[in-house]
Amino acid sequence: GGRHRAHGPGTNGGVRVGMDQLGPEYMSVCLLADESYQKLAMETMEELDWCLDQLETIQTYRSVSDMASNKFKRMLNRELSHLSEMSRSGNQVSEYISNTFLDKKMDLELPCPVPKSRERKRRQGGMMSQISGVRKVSHSPNISGNTVQRFGVKTDQEEQLSKDLEDINKWGLNIFKVAEHSHNRPLTCIMYTIFQERDLMRTFKIPVDTFVTFMLTLESHYHSDVAYHNSLHAADVAQSTHILLSTPALDAVFTDLEILAAIFAAAIHDVDHPGVSNQFLINTNSELALMYNDESVLENHHLAVGFKLLQQDNCDIFQNLTKKQRQTLRRMVIDMVLATDMSKHMSLLADLKTMVETKKVTSSGVLMLDNYTDRMQVLRNMVHCADLSNPTKPLDLYRQWTDRIMDEFFHQGDRERERGMEISPMCDKHTASVERTQVGFIDYIVHPLWETWADLVHPDAQDILDTLEDNRNWYQSMIPQSPSPPFYTSDGEGGSQGELEEHEVASKFKFDLTVMDQCGPDGQRDSGTTDSDGLPHQPCDESRDVET
Ligand code: AMP
Ligand code: MG
Ligand code: ZN
Repeated sequence: GGRHRAHGPGTNGGVRVGMDQLGPEYMSVCLLADESYQKLAMETMEELDWCLDQLETIQTYRSVSDMASNKFKRMLNRELSHLSEMSRSGNQVSEYISNTFLDKKMDLELPCPVPKSRERKRRQGGMMSQISGVRKVSHSPNISGNTVQRFGVKTDQEEQLSKDLEDINKWGLNIFKVAEHSHNRPLTCIMYTIFQERDLMRTFKIPVDTFVTFMLTLESHYHSDVAYHNSLHAADVAQSTHILLSTPALDAVFTDLEILAAIFAAAIHDVDHPGVSNQFLINTNSELALMYNDESVLENHHLAVGFKLLQQDNCDIFQNLTKKQRQTLRRMVIDMVLATDMSKHMSLLADLKTMVETKKVTSSGVLMLDNYTDRMQVLRNMVHCADLSNPTKPLDLYRQWTDRIMDEFFHQGDRERERGMEISPMCDKHTASVERTQVGFIDYIVHPLWETWADLVHPDAQDILDTLEDNRNWYQSMIPQSPSPPFYTSDGEGGSQGELEEHEVASKFKFDLTVMDQCGPDGQRDSGTTDSDGLPHQPCDESRDVET
């Protein structure tokens, strides 16, 4: 309401009517019209000016998605700044979340110098002549003649393995056991089982030996000496994606090709991960950062390696797809894997929230996703959810993931320390607080995401959400008991009571989509801070004049 109007149309109708009635007395019409038209033209100009003004204030050059995502970033920034003021460990958790999940392109920091002696240890062949990290490997021992082992991998514990794999359609499948019982080939094994379960090898005419050869090749390009980002994590994300694809609310929504693409994307999404973050690669002027111009460095690399491996001997699992299918599949896989760059998290979440707000379901309760854009958006978020699903798994599994990721972070921290670089948040084994990180990670990232997913597929994900909340409370309860680093105990950080309150507040933290009502009760936002896109806060008028 109230968008009127210093000067609007409505005063000129009479002129037009008059013109119509003038008939053949041409000259006088022209004279009269001349004046009236001039007036009309002036008024129209003013009218257009007014329109432009309006358009500028509602910032139509920004997409709704962009505005929503910026709003979330601002909200998270505000929460994190509170968190970081609570305590020094709160500060570290806050730094970790902000560095990992917010796009901070605008905060330019000087790169840390690399000691000369360590520079360019391993030169890759010709300048950008090929994708680094791709090796020839032979996997013949696993395939004897035309027969393939029952689960695609060699095992002397077939019984146990078959028992583990009975849970293939369950959120609680123990992938650690699968690894143990498959000579550490969890990815090949789980992919083989999923493809069997979904009959994908038949649908896409994938020769079984090609499938196994490709999977073993892919699996061997995950680094087994990296604590978290090894093939076990890929297997976990692939199996989690497999389950999310089967959620009742998405029944029969996706085509076979989309299903194939999503599971394949999950399988390759971290291949050849070196165990350090994008920021580390950028700060150390690595070949990879150079290759990809600092943009989604790892994710671009995972894709390049994943697709390159299809070209190895007997590895092209897509050989019997049509050209069109291959093109579509490639486009979808690229989309999904690039979306696993955690700095894109807020945009993904904002888009997902927007979709939930406007979701349509059929009479049988299945989501209506009748165009490519919407289906891709769901798939992109699905793989992202699977990638951030550790805290939603049964606690004993979740805790093993936590141990692994902290191990990897600390290893990166050690390398940073060695190089005399500033140690990344959560990567300093002497000061990091594991339990607090998990609580913060859940409160600000995982819970908001999964809550939105649960809204989308309501009520399918209720159990997952419950487990997540239980796990969060478990880590929360572990904070007081966990041995605090001596560094912190003396700085008056407050006892367990205070901590409980700190996180009690945080757990209620919610991203609220309504771009329309973002002004608080007092109509003011925090001021003095800067958007992560480098823009100062808009004074509350992003959409004030948008009418719904
Ligand atoms: P990716 O590296 O592709 O697996 O993306 C997942 C990212 O989310 C990791 O690199 C971490 O930054 C973060 N993350 C995932 N799981 C955890 C966890 N359990 N604790 C802390 N951060 C996590
Ligand atoms: Mg990744
Ligand atoms: Zn991952």
